[in-house]
Amino acid sequence: MYYGGIEAGGTKFVCAVSNEQFEIIDRISIPTTIPEETLKYVFDFFDQYNLNAIGIGSFGPIDVMTDSATYGYVTSTPKKGWNNYNFVGTIKERYNIPVAWTTDVNAAAYGEYRMGSAQNAGSCIYLTIGTGIGGGAILNGEVVEGFGHPEMGHISVRKHAEDPFEGVCPYHGDCLEGIAAGPAIEKRLKQKGKDVDKNDPYWDKEAYYIAQALVNYTMILRPEVIILGGGVMKQAQLFPLIRTHFKTLLNEYLTTPDLDTYITSPGLVDNAGITGSLLLAAEKAI
Ligand code: ADP
Ligand code: ZN
Repeated sequence: MYYGGIEAGGTKFVCAVSNEQFEIIDRISIPTTIPEETLKYVFDFFDQYNLNAIGIGSFGPIDVMTDSATYGYVTSTPKKGWNNYNFVGTIKERYNIPVAWTTDVNAAAYGEYRMGSAQNAGSCIYLTIGTGIGGGAILNGEVVEGFGHPEMGHISVRKHAEDPFEGVCPYHGDCLEGIAAGPAIEKRLKQKGKDVDKNDPYWDKEAYYIAQALVNYTMILRPEVIILGGGVMKQAQLFPLIRTHFKTLLNEYLTTPDLDTYITSPGLVDNAGITGSLLLAAEKAI
């Protein structure tokens, strides 16, 4: 059997084909433009293979409610051409094989749970801190979805006393994503996140915000591992700063696994999302 995986990001699409051992035998990366153009490259790639199922981990928001008329759609995105786009329907029309459909971060969480930093755990959260902030959770081996998928980035956190930044979320202003994702860092410091010195005092504030979010997730879900990915987390100095704030904020109210393993980076490095998509495809394959 062969599986197809699509990691559909707002900036780029990664498509991969794997065998039953989830070894990637071919992959492409293409820029995300308008759906008709992007999907043309996706089809050209997958047309070369006889696939048994495809798994998609998509940027959102997306409709994951199986009984909804717009199941499989990308919903209210400002991204040109993708608003109300029938992604699953378009793929199914072409290939007529089972399609697994979830968010990019749910797929990454599943990849890490099965084959990455949480492979020895019973539960995990994967949080990306990049162009936006989003998270996915795995509990009892299942992707957590209720009335739709979680939106872990749009939560309220306490502002740092020395941070006057008003935030950039068009819906909430200073929600976590509005003050701590890549675009917020860039607007606040007037330079790209990757160019900010690793010793800049701002990183401690960034860590304070992320740590608050992780305390909230811990209180609500008690996962065994929290994995932090995305462009901003390439700033590796954030990890010890986040753990320190986390410890202070939690104030020994709860026990957690050792913080060095509890708050960690993706074991699959940049392949968490695509691996998760392939694993989810395999579960749908017949
Ligand atoms: P996306 O979220 O679009 O899938 P990324 O996870 O790479 O992609 O996130 C991109 C964001 O992360 C941008 O806002 C970028 O400025 C920021 N970023 C990328 N690399 C770094 C870095 N090394 N340090 C800090 N911020 C970074
Ligand atoms: Zn928000």
